[in-house]
Amino acid sequence: MQNQPHVDSWYAATANLKLDLPPLQGTTNTDVCVIGAGYTGLSAAIHLRQLGYSVTVLEANRVGWGASGRNGGHVGTGQRVDQEQLESRLGLEHARALWQLGLEAVDTVCELIEEYDIDCELKRGNLHVASKAGDIASLPAEVEHLQKVYNYQQIRYVDASELADMTSARGFGGATLNTGCRHLHPLNYALGLARAALALGASIHEGSRVLSYHEGSQVSVKTDRGEVRAKYLVVACNGYLEKLEPRAAGRIMPINNYMLATEPLSEELARRLIRDDTSMSDSRFVINYWKLSADNRLLFGGGESYSSRFPADIKSFVRKYVLRIYPELADTRIDYGWGGTLAITLKRMPDFGRLSANAFYAHGYSGHGVPTATLAGKLLAEVISGTAERFDVMARVPTSQFPGGTMLRWPGLVAGMLFYSLRDRIG
Ligand SMILES: Cc1cc2nc3c(=O)[nH]c(=O)nc-3n(C[C@H](O)[C@H](O)[C@H](O)COP(=O)(O)OP(=O)(O)OC[C@H]3O[C@@H](n4cnc5c(N)ncnc54)[C@H](O)[C@@H]3O)c2cc1C
Repeated sequence: MQNQPHVDSWYAATANLKLDLPPLQGTTNTDVCVIGAGYTGLSAAIHLRQLGYSVTVLEANRVGWGASGRNGGHVGTGQRVDQEQLESRLGLEHARALWQLGLEAVDTVCELIEEYDIDCELKRGNLHVASKAGDIASLPAEVEHLQKVYNYQQIRYVDASELADMTSARGFGGATLNTGCRHLHPLNYALGLARAALALGASIHEGSRVLSYHEGSQVSVKTDRGEVRAKYLVVACNGYLEKLEPRAAGRIMPINNYMLATEPLSEELARRLIRDDTSMSDSRFVINYWKLSADNRLLFGGGESYSSRFPADIKSFVRKYVLRIYPELADTRIDYGWGGTLAITLKRMPDFGRLSANAFYAHGYSGHGVPTATLAGKLLAEVISGTAERFDVMARVPTSQFPGGTMLRWPGLVAGMLFYSLRDRIG
């Protein structure tokens, strides 16, 4: 399928830019062909244009149609995996380099927004709340570790009594407040990136699903109506990759995640839910994450599924997670419910790599893609321009094939995910 409209979400209803970009027709020559117009592809296009490369982006549907136009809008620091785990997996030096890249990812998001004047409700701060005794107990040490080993001073511990003043969220006994994090309107961020890429001279074709490509000294990329001949290829399809690239598909697993938007809340209620207008997230395995929109709607993400079908009633599916945390919203109307597909990896670190000398990919951001996919675009541009060091800091993180590869990865993953989400439920 191609040329599908944006999913019916609060984001689509408040999109501040209407792009209507023509499908690819006929044959085009370009330096770099990018497949996919989410953050990875759009950021790659911007950074490649800044380096002087001609770029053609092919998008099956619309700009930001994938996870980039549907997500929670949380822009977290660091990596999806915490630093202590990275240190024990990869050693301190590599963990430090990954931490720095994680900070640079957030900075890159902010710089692009500033430089290209992207209107996307950018705000600061994340309050990460913990419910289980073990999680609560580990928070002060985590904070101290980041302060001491990484000299990161924008995070602090919040105890239960201070937390009670900051949010009416129920069931949490401690938190960390990280003022280095940001949050934003994800679709407007994606549309703004596309506008910037176009202004820099990139070509973006919507309604242009890539059916196949062939690498060689030149890459030939085919859609139903046209062909791009390029010196380099970037595959940026993440959770929507399907069977396009079998060499990389087995290292990621597409999973579905769901969100809702309430009706606009009174200023008083909004401040009770999240006093300081930060984003919030919890420490469950299937994470709940939430924030307020500019018009005081609660935008709440919770619940996952692992099949190709979404629940029939997404609003009710997500609402039950909201009410566990905010029972006071029992009478609040839910205006929108939607889902999206993201790619996770087995160890929850992204998978960056080379398919051949002139073909690259990055995906599997495992729920941390707003900053990491943006950074990926920058690093893809660097590696294409011949500077591989920073791309390789990411590419050197070992990623494994899901057991069973693309054919048989589902049963094992579903069993594992259900086990951990059951652990969430029984505490
Ligand atoms: C509900 C939800 C909530 C999330 N919340 C957060 C969050 O709060 N913070 C965070 O950091 N991350 C979050 N994520 C993850 C984040 O959204 C993704 O990691 C990120 O958007 C990935 O960007 P991308 O450009 O790689 O992929 P996508 O945005 O998914 O874009 C891939 C694009 O490729 C296109 N495509 C696929 N195949 C082809 C083809 N053959 N030809 C042409 N085009 C093709 C698709 O149409 C799609 O537009 C969330 C994801 C979901 C689904």
